[in-house]
Amino acid sequence: MAMPMPAQAPTLQPDLPATLATLAGMPRPPLRVVVLGSGSGGNAVVVESGRHRLLIDAGFSSRELGQRLALVGVEPGSLAGLVLTHEHIDHIRGVARFARRHRLPLFATAGTLRQLQVDAETAAAATVLRSGSPCEIAGFQLEPFAVPHDAREPIGMVIQDGAGRRLGLVADCGTHSHLAWARLRDLDLMVLETNHDLDMLRNGPYPWPLKQRVAGRHGHLSNREAADHLPELLCDRLRWLVLYHLSRTNNLPALAAATLGEALARAGCGARLEVSSQHQPTPWLEVT
Ligand SMILES: [Zn+2]
Ligand SMILES: [Zn+2]
Repeated sequence: MAMPMPAQAPTLQPDLPATLATLAGMPRPPLRVVVLGSGSGGNAVVVESGRHRLLIDAGFSSRELGQRLALVGVEPGSLAGLVLTHEHIDHIRGVARFARRHRLPLFATAGTLRQLQVDAETAAAATVLRSGSPCEIAGFQLEPFAVPHDAREPIGMVIQDGAGRRLGLVADCGTHSHLAWARLRDLDLMVLETNHDLDMLRNGPYPWPLKQRVAGRHGHLSNREAADHLPELLCDRLRWLVLYHLSRTNNLPALAAATLGEALARAGCGARLEVSSQHQPTPWLEVT
C-alpha cells in the first residue's frame, strides 16, 4: 500500500543517563554493534549505546530475526526503531511482520517507504528520512546520505550516540561516491560493503547481464574498490572495519579480508577487521 507522508522527525532528546554517568565519573557504556547476518540472503545490524538500541534493515523473516536477536541477547521490545537502507528484499524481508508485531517505528526515505507493504498503523508511525538531514532517534543522531544503487532512494548512514561515538554504514553501493565518503568522517566503527572479487565475478556462473548489473555503477562494491577508497575513511579513532554483504558466489571471506587487511596495513591503521557472515551473527563489536 502507499504510505502517508510525512511524519515529523522526533525532536532532540539528550541522553540523560549517559550524561549523568559521565558527570558522576562512572564508566560509560560502550557503543556496541552486531551484524545479525549479511549477504544476498538477508541483512540486519543492531547498534546499541547504553539502554538505546536500533535495528538497521530487517532482511530476514520476522521469525529468523527473533531467533538471531535472541542469540545476541537482544529483546525485540528493547529496540527503539528500525532504520531501512532501501527496499530490496534482502533488506526488508521481515519488516512488515516484525514492525507490526513489536510496534517498531520505521525510519526510511520516502522512496523506500513507498515500496513497502506494511499495515496502516506502521505506515502512519513511520518517519521520512532525507539525505543530508540529520534526525534524532532515541538518543542517537542519524545522518542519512544518498548512495548509488539501483533502488528508489537508497541511503548509507552515520549513527552517532550521546557520547559522540560514530558508526558509519554503507550497505549496497555501486561505486565510490564523493558525497557519501565525505559524510563518513571521524568514525569509530565502519560497516562497508565488500560484495565481490572482480575475477570471481567475471569467471563465475552468473549470466552476463547480472554480472554487468553487479559490477555496474548502481550495483555492488567490489573488494578492490572498497580497498582503493578505504584510506579516505581511515582516522586514528577507527577501531573496527566490518566487511559487509559478501556474495556467496563471487567472493570468499578470506579474499575480502586479505584485500581490505592489506589496505589497512598499508595505511598503518590499527583498526581490527571483522568479516560478517550470512549464516550467523558476528560477536558484539565494542567501542568504549
Ligand atoms: Zn540492494
Ligand atoms: Zn542487498
